[in-house]
Amino acid sequence: MSVDYEKVHELVIVGSGPAGYTAGVYAARAQLDPVLYEGSVTAGGALMNTTEVENFPGFKDGIMGPDLMDQMRKQSSRFGAQLVTDDITEMKLDSDVKVLTDGSGNTIKARAVILAMGSAYKEIGLKNEKRLSGRGVSWCATCDGFFFKEQVIAVVGGGDSAMEEANFLTKFAKKVVLIHRRDQLRASKIMAERAKANPKIEFLFNTEVIDVLGEDKVTGLKLRNVLTGEESSSDFTGLFVAIGHLPRSELVVGQVKTNSEGYVLVDSGSTRTNLPGVFASGDLVDFTYRQAITAAGSGCQAALDAERFLAGH
Ligand code: NAP
Repeated sequence: MSVDYEKVHELVIVGSGPAGYTAGVYAARAQLDPVLYEGSVTAGGALMNTTEVENFPGFKDGIMGPDLMDQMRKQSSRFGAQLVTDDITEMKLDSDVKVLTDGSGNTIKARAVILAMGSAYKEIGLKNEKRLSGRGVSWCATCDGFFFKEQVIAVVGGGDSAMEEANFLTKFAKKVVLIHRRDQLRASKIMAERAKANPKIEFLFNTEVIDVLGEDKVTGLKLRNVLTGEESSSDFTGLFVAIGHLPRSELVVGQVKTNSEGYVLVDSGSTRTNLPGVFASGDLVDFTYRQAITAAGSGCQAALDAERFLAGH
């Protein structure tokens, strides 16, 4: 069924991670006939890049990330969410009827919009970082830490994410070396203290990673001391990059309120943005939990908020 570009739809959902698809399930069951833009190449969001998801409730033996997203996708479709495999490239959200343009140049109109574009892990930008992604380079300790049992691995970053990742990884690793480009951590005191107290974590300050070594999998890192400029190589079998996230809010910055890092701000205890009829969910909003289950939960909340908004109009 093709999208009707003439009519004003009740609801358009932008994004297809756990937040977007869960919003799709709830909105479709509420008979809002949602149109869900799932992206032209990235349908399924960040979980498409993970392997086994062991902590999503309901799957006793775990489930592969792509399989989980496929289930969510089919579930939203089963109830009638209309899935469009395209990107939204422009949004005008400030009037009663929101107008969105897709990658094919079509415009679609809706009374309510749920933003669920997620966030992207920041990359360091090293020559071999992408090539060795999934082969020792990871951005997610909770997803991949299990595969590094009794290994010596590096975590890059000095913020709360790096502390959290490093601490988590000590459950599996023999040793975790936390590499930070300065000698002062950005992390909150409590998180930093916890990492410093962990006997399996070693700190390497004033050090930049300048490349990842290895042909088929990570075998080491090329490092540079930022004070002396001295370069060296060290053996590691894993590199976890934890230097922050970038919310994918570029299409809506300047329309909905965001914080200084670009995360969309919502009213406390809801998914309402500052614009009537515009709701935001998942990693686009959440810089604290960033879990599949919390994203799915907020997608559910966004659909319920949208349903109430539409019922009141
Ligand atoms: P962050 O606070 O922005 O820290 C990013 C860290 O990565 C900084 O130490 C930064 O170094 C370093 N960095 C950035 N770009 C780099 C690069 N290109 N190469 C090497 N290092 C680089 O990000 P975050 O740790 O993801 O935290 C984001 C927000 O989420 C924070 O508000 C944090 O408190 C929150 N958070 C909370 C928890 C929790 O409470 N459980 C857990 C995770 C995150 P510099 O310090 O030199 O800039």
